[in-house]
Amino acid sequence: MECGGTKFVCATGDETGRLFERKEFPATTPVETIGRALEFFGGLAHPLEAIGIGSFGPVDLDPASPKFGYITSTPKDGWRDTDLMGAVRRATGRPVAFDTDVNAAALGEARWGAAQGLDTFLYLTIGTGVGGGGMANSRLMHGLVHPEMGHIRVPHDWGADGFAGGCPFHGDCLEGLVAGPAIEARWGQRGETLPPEHAAWDLEAHYIALGLATWICTLSPRRIILGGGVMRQAHLFPRIRKEALALLNGYIQAPEILERMEEYIVAPALGGDAGVLGAIALAVGEGG
Ligand code: ZN
Repeated sequence: MECGGTKFVCATGDETGRLFERKEFPATTPVETIGRALEFFGGLAHPLEAIGIGSFGPVDLDPASPKFGYITSTPKDGWRDTDLMGAVRRATGRPVAFDTDVNAAALGEARWGAAQGLDTFLYLTIGTGVGGGGMANSRLMHGLVHPEMGHIRVPHDWGADGFAGGCPFHGDCLEGLVAGPAIEARWGQRGETLPPEHAAWDLEAHYIALGLATWICTLSPRRIILGGGVMRQAHLFPRIRKEALALLNGYIQAPEILERMEEYIVAPALGGDAGVLGAIALAVGEGG
């Protein structure tokens, strides 16, 4: 299950990465949305052994916590304190593995996509929100809770950008400046309708590169994968690479960055299947 704040994708597959059935539906209320997922699991042609869930968050990933498997302090209406994992486990009677949606997508890319063979890498999704995850030393990144990379502070370019920011918690954190809703609020139209030469995109690339430069210095990823709806604007990639190089200013002496930036900051190789394939890898028990 790939449980996004906008839509859910349920799919079945096996440990080789083959996908069988697949169904998508909008994330409305918890009762309706989880109900539709359970309907999917009730009508399968293949036997169901285990379920992996990659969910929007914040989520509780601590097996010792009474709220393990819950969606916790989300601003999404009606979803605060939703026992997602428990509802699926009780209804199906199957073991359930649970992680963030970005960690699931990262795991999919590690197993079958753009991060194969990499022990430490970053996966970012930039869309309705900004989420970050990935692997450190071959294990999915967890900690006190889980990384919340979208909510770091980046310098706000007030000279070029009078938009105050759209995050309900922080205003002009990275997510508040670059997520899809921020683009629409700042420019008065959706990103998909803005032409590549619009000033929106250089600003967008600048803020995203500020985030990447911070994580390159703090996490030392071997590759950075950028997915999500905003990153479907493929012209952003060369702008972001150029900005990130300029910000690092020759300090990180690695040929991957200095000479092969087009292989260092990349799009997901699995496209829209990274999330469900990663959830299947979670169900199989990979991810460290
Ligand atoms: Zn924020």
